[in-house]
Amino acid sequence: MRFEFATATRIIFGAGVIREIGSIVAGMGRRALVLTGSTPDRFAALFELLEQAGIETAQYSVSGEPTTDMVRAATQRGRDFGVEFVLSCGGGSVLDSGKAVAALLTNGGEPLDYLEVIGRGQPLTQWAAPHIAIPTTAGTGAEVTRNAVLKSPEHRVKVSLRSPLMLPAVALVDPELTYSMPPAVTASTGLDAFTQVVECYVSNRANPLTDAICREGIARAARSLQRAYEQGDDAAAREDMAVASLFGGLALANSKLGAVHGFAGPLGGMFPAPHGAVCGRLLPFVIEANVRALAVREPESLALRRYDEVGRLVTGSPAATSADGVRWVQRLCEGIAVPALADYGITERDFPDMIEKAARSSSMKGNPIELTGAELRGILQQAL
Ligand code: NAD
Repeated sequence: MRFEFATATRIIFGAGVIREIGSIVAGMGRRALVLTGSTPDRFAALFELLEQAGIETAQYSVSGEPTTDMVRAATQRGRDFGVEFVLSCGGGSVLDSGKAVAALLTNGGEPLDYLEVIGRGQPLTQWAAPHIAIPTTAGTGAEVTRNAVLKSPEHRVKVSLRSPLMLPAVALVDPELTYSMPPAVTASTGLDAFTQVVECYVSNRANPLTDAICREGIARAARSLQRAYEQGDDAAAREDMAVASLFGGLALANSKLGAVHGFAGPLGGMFPAPHGAVCGRLLPFVIEANVRALAVREPESLALRRYDEVGRLVTGSPAATSADGVRWVQRLCEGIAVPALADYGITERDFPDMIEKAARSSSMKGNPIELTGAELRGILQQAL
């Protein structure tokens, strides 16, 4: 067995830890580029804390999912301002932008020089500028992952800039920052977190460290996602979801995902659909397809037993199987109003393109078994 585990240099977790930001940034420099979401009010307190700590800031708002153009513009703003460190505070979109900008600031060039699939795929050679990543959603775990997902409008695809040199210096996870998420965002981001820990747990690249992290993440998301959706200020539920999200990031950065994310990447590039909601919609059908394929082609596989364990973890019943897990996920998705793929305007005509892009994706390589074109099509058909 060989495995590696890399993460942010420091992970600081807890309700209210954002108020310690002044002492956390000490020693990083005086000039920061601060990337935020596009609702300025939510970040006023952060800017005040930074000012009190004597930090001069330039700001860049990331609206929607990050594009190669946004990253170019934000990097330029940082260069013009002479930044010493980057701070990103927002959903996965903002944190991924922060990672890409921090990498470009020290490596030079522009996103297409380094992007996989559509770009020149050059490796980064320099550590990214110091970056403090502060999530305000509980979904992606992007504060501890080594990739930034960027959308290229001209290619209609989302692809990653990927390197361990992009890991943030500090991941500051404060569940209080997620209380303001409305139910639909809680549902979508929470399903992303849940799907990440499930996919990494059954992935062919799982390792003992990610296994332990995934089991804990699955149990916490299972007991708290519906509650966080219904009662946004429930501190215990929000804390569980923040842990599940962080754990999803730790797991995916050190193992691999699977077919759900294999589809969700290309699909998000082609349609304006919330990433996590798409993941939640696909998850039960991917589990069913994987279990069916494994039972026939690899009946001794560890992943088969793990799918049963997922059933036990989510239901809390020691006799549960993977089929119980599938039913549980479907009920959860109904309970938190997850739309079908057709609701985003997707039709069967889009399937060949989606399947082709999904089959080439990096996540698909982590799926516990290689699915055939017909099996991939079957998943989309059911999720439509
Ligand atoms: P997001 O960043 O796109 O945010 C979703 C919406 O929620 C936005 O409108 C945002 O303004 C709003 N929002 C965020 N925090 C809020 C809060 N506390 N209160 C109210 N509104 C809030 O969503 P996300 O799911 O966190 O991130 C999705 C992005 O992350 C996608 O681009 C996806 O591809 C990427 N991603 C990256 C990784 C990785 O490892 N790098 C992993 C999974 C997903």
